[in-house]
Amino acid sequence: MNIKSQKEKCVVIVGAGPAGLAIAKALSGMGFIINIIDPKNKQEIVSPSYDGREIALTHQSQIFMEKLGIWQKIPEKFISYIKKAKVLDDDITESILIGDLIDKGGEIGFLVSNYIIRKASYEALIDSRRKNKDIEFSFSDEVIDVQNFDSFSEVKLRSGNTINAKLVISSDSRFSKIRTLLGIPSDMFDFGRDMLVCSMKHSKTHDRTAWEWFTYGYTLALLPMRKKFDDRQYESSVIVTMTKQEINNLLSLDEESFNQNITQKFKRFFGDMVLTSPCYSYPLVSVYPKKFVADRYVLIGDAAVGMHPVTAHGYNFVLKGIKTLTGLIDEASQTKEDIGSISLLKKYNRRHKAATKPLYLFTKLIIAIFTKEDSSAKKIRKIFIKLGQLTFIQKTFTKLLMKE
Ligand SMILES: Cc1cc2nc3c(=O)[nH]c(=O)nc-3n(C[C@H](O)[C@H](O)[C@H](O)COP(=O)(O)OP(=O)(O)OC[C@H]3O[C@@H](n4cnc5c(N)ncnc54)[C@H](O)[C@@H]3O)c2cc1C
Repeated sequence: MNIKSQKEKCVVIVGAGPAGLAIAKALSGMGFIINIIDPKNKQEIVSPSYDGREIALTHQSQIFMEKLGIWQKIPEKFISYIKKAKVLDDDITESILIGDLIDKGGEIGFLVSNYIIRKASYEALIDSRRKNKDIEFSFSDEVIDVQNFDSFSEVKLRSGNTINAKLVISSDSRFSKIRTLLGIPSDMFDFGRDMLVCSMKHSKTHDRTAWEWFTYGYTLALLPMRKKFDDRQYESSVIVTMTKQEINNLLSLDEESFNQNITQKFKRFFGDMVLTSPCYSYPLVSVYPKKFVADRYVLIGDAAVGMHPVTAHGYNFVLKGIKTLTGLIDEASQTKEDIGSISLLKKYNRRHKAATKPLYLFTKLIIAIFTKEDSSAKKIRKIFIKLGQLTFIQKTFTKLLMKE
């Protein structure tokens, strides 16, 4: 059977990142033929390498991942538990504490490496593919054009292949070329900073608390990882946000100087800190398109909402969008409605915007406040921390983080 010719049932997914794999998993078994395309080769998708990202997951995300069969593919030793989160201004003694008011023993979220999530998503998808025989991969290939012909879309690949589909789902990263090709404008904000990420071990406990520390000059974050050293050492994911030049300077240090530098930056709060992984850096650019949909075309994942990682919500929003879209597609397919109809896609557009825009804007506001260092900005930063210390605000933050 040439499944590429069955355009009435065909869904094309552009990109096999965490979003593309998860939506394919959610759609498998609904009666579609799903084509996933990615320029990466098979090995990179089947067995992705460590990329420095540790993903903080909410309870809602964990529940949805379990429903998709992804969570079950993550070995327990790769899951860390976050009990609290702390937001600090330059003065280390003043902080907003999130999660301190929940029941004893509870956690506000989980931490799993991005490459483990990708691997687990692929493995869960392979289970469905075996069972439903409705998934086709095109690795080492790339979508280069999408044309809409009223009742179907024609997707052209670099290899010369063409696929006709009822719906094209774009999960091709925050820098989505297909989104640009189809003329969807985006609010794209370059923060002018890069993020360096790595894992480090340290002698003093992190107490399963995540840190976001806005010092004057740079921002530090620390995400508590599962203890895995016998020598009374703890491990955390460390994130340093600075200019690209400053990050390059940091990366040019030998390992001992790098360790000393980070230990000093954290004011020895966690004792001596020692690198346990390679370092990676990412440019800080957030993206929010004017709309998530066009004719027979829909954006999900970072292609829809490219968050600044400070509020740790990129992948959580990926899952939220998938839940909304696949819910609508499921309903439509049961009533034999066209799954690529603009009225259905507009419903997704409205719901996903309502779910993501407030936090997207709030995140930009936090960055705007906490990266300015003139005297009035310093006053505003202090007021923000004081307000955040009020019990009802802490409770609201905690509820929001656990619910989203
Ligand atoms: C440092 C850092 C820390 C983060 N921390 C958190 C966190 O704590 N919590 C959280 O929720 N989120 C976090 N995130 C965000 C999270 O990593 C992203 O939201 C998530 O990885 C997005 O997945 P995606 O599949 O949408 O995009 P991507 O992972 O970018 O995947 C896109 C895929 O599309 C493919 N592609 C590109 N162009 C084409 C084309 N033309 N045709 C076919 N395929 C194409 C690419 O090869 C790639 O495989 C963090 C991000 C960073 C950088």
